[in-house]
Amino acid sequence: MSYIGSLDQGTSSTRFIVFDDAGKIVGQHQLEHTQILPQAGWVEHDAAEIWQRTQDVIAGALKAARISGAELSAIGITNQRETTVVWDKQTGEPLANAIVWQDTRTTDFLNSISKEKQSLITHKTGLAIAPYFSGSKINWLLNHVPAVQEAVKSERALVGTIDSWLLWNLSGGARGGVHLTDVTNASRTLLMNLESLEWDQELLDIFSVPRSILPQIRSSSEIYATTDPAGPVGSAVPIAGILGDQQSAMVGQACFERGESKTTYGTGNFALLNTGTEIVRSKNGLLTTVCFKFGNAPANYALEGSVAVTGSAIQWLRDQLQIISTAPDIEPLAKSVADNGGVYFVPAFSGLFAPYWRNDARGVVVGLTRAATKAHLARAALEAICYQTRDVLDAMSADSGVKLPEMRVDGGITANSLCMQMQADIMGVDVVRPLIIETTALGAAYAAGLAVGVFKDTSELKAKWQEGMRWNADSASQLATSGYQLWKKAISRTLDWLE
Ligand code: ADP
Repeated sequence: MSYIGSLDQGTSSTRFIVFDDAGKIVGQHQLEHTQILPQAGWVEHDAAEIWQRTQDVIAGALKAARISGAELSAIGITNQRETTVVWDKQTGEPLANAIVWQDTRTTDFLNSISKEKQSLITHKTGLAIAPYFSGSKINWLLNHVPAVQEAVKSERALVGTIDSWLLWNLSGGARGGVHLTDVTNASRTLLMNLESLEWDQELLDIFSVPRSILPQIRSSSEIYATTDPAGPVGSAVPIAGILGDQQSAMVGQACFERGESKTTYGTGNFALLNTGTEIVRSKNGLLTTVCFKFGNAPANYALEGSVAVTGSAIQWLRDQLQIISTAPDIEPLAKSVADNGGVYFVPAFSGLFAPYWRNDARGVVVGLTRAATKAHLARAALEAICYQTRDVLDAMSADSGVKLPEMRVDGGITANSLCMQMQADIMGVDVVRPLIIETTALGAAYAAGLAVGVFKDTSELKAKWQEGMRWNADSASQLATSGYQLWKKAISRTLDWLE
């Protein structure tokens, strides 16, 4: 029996899962970290806290699995993407709070880039001009944090996404940690050229990022380093897989072939479609990104529809409006009414992502009457998750010509059966969840296992995918027809809110 550890560093929590070579979970541990919200539109994490949580969850998961670190054949890392950390390579300390993917502070800077340069960026990177991606976050840190400026001058600054920060720490930190990233994470920075898969000087110039502070770009599956025996693993184990969380879920869902797709329902929603080795440029507001690159094999690309706010709208109902006390409470509340009572909720809290890309949009609740209750709002929130997902999946079909035969899903919200039934009805296709729902963590474990030979090839991994749950589409549902038309109308009401 071989064991593989997967470190899954998400937006709200960090976990370490020990898988056996059949893909079964033998132990895990998970801890949340603080969401720092210094002002409207700003979202930060303390990277030192994330590294502390990482050490704790590794220890906790090894204990739960009743194995020692030395028994792990390999470790994979998957992470919240785009979130940017800058640290001092001598002290090992972060030089500022990490700027999280949801943070919109760099909108004005992006608007100041000329239209000509914006088209160049979009063409070279496959991404949209949005504060979501790392490039403008690095630019902000370089321009606004004196400690970062000093560290750059004295050649002590290193920058990276969370994968780089954790890899550097796990491989020894200030005592010789390696400074690398994988191609899927690099493809979310606005600094990597999609064709060459290298940092692009023209892009680095636009964002004023010195190449010397960036990590080297590697494949998603190869041995990058071994863990520092003095660290939380307690032994020298190969770190052999790195994938951004959404790409990792593609691997965990065994979407290895062109035309295969999955949708992950978490803080935000992310639908990806594998387009093989071809770079497909979207005409409908989707992103083009690297899906995975295993060792020396050519990269596979993906079209991606990213929706900023899905699960976080449920958190908003819980924390800000306090109409539920836990996220799962939304299901019985929404079920207590037969329909949305005409209420539509578009949670455009930080503008709209795909397929609209409107930084000027803000959230709306429309269709209110005297009869509207919190149950209608709860229902509207679940419908919003599904309608936003349909928006991106329709765009995906238009770009690729692929009509999805069914939807492969994963993520926290798939525990909500009402929401998954709504999704099937709104899309008009069956929604299918695999038996192992921890697909994000599983993908990084697969990538690491491939690199060290625990798994032979992707066909072996494909054979492990098993159906766990299926929601059949009801073709008579009004949600897909009149409901969707009203949704589109509600979207139009969010636009042009900010001047
Ligand atoms: P992430 O990896 O982005 O942190 P998860 O996959 O852990 O996200 O999903 C957590 C999100 O799902 C939270 O935003 C939470 O509000 C939402 N969520 C969890 N359980 C449910 C549920 N039963 N119904 C609706 N939303 C849920």
